[in-house]
Amino acid sequence: MLHSGMVLALHSRPMPGVVHLLKGRCPRCGQGRLFLSPNPYNLKKMLIINPRCSHCNLNFIPEIGFYWGATYVAYALTVAFSGFTFVVSTLLFGFMNSLSLTYVWVNAALLFFISPLSFRFSRVLWLWMFWERD
Ligand SMILES: [Zn+2]
Repeated sequence: MLHSGMVLALHSRPMPGVVHLLKGRCPRCGQGRLFLSPNPYNLKKMLIINPRCSHCNLNFIPEIGFYWGATYVAYALTVAFSGFTFVVSTLLFGFMNSLSLTYVWVNAALLFFISPLSFRFSRVLWLWMFWERD
């Protein structure tokens, strides 16, 4: 059983969670933004990652080429998204219709429009997996 003081201590230092991950926040404090622009569809600034957390000063770029590995995450997200759209297409239009070229083009268009989100989320997830705890 938790002592009430322990509960207060837990509340005073909240751990970053899934919500912070989805919002693209710092994996250590959950406050600072990883990306300069909060809008992923701001195409001029969508690629710019802040060098450090504005709240806890965590280094967001630990080494040159750190985010290259995020391409594997983006690939996995693309495959998962395509699997999801295939299941939805099969439920709506049947299996044989989902094997058509129409499905491929619609899926490609959807992937194009979510690519800024996929780009950002893959980098955020990569940082959350491999940031240096000290
Ligand atoms: Zn931070």
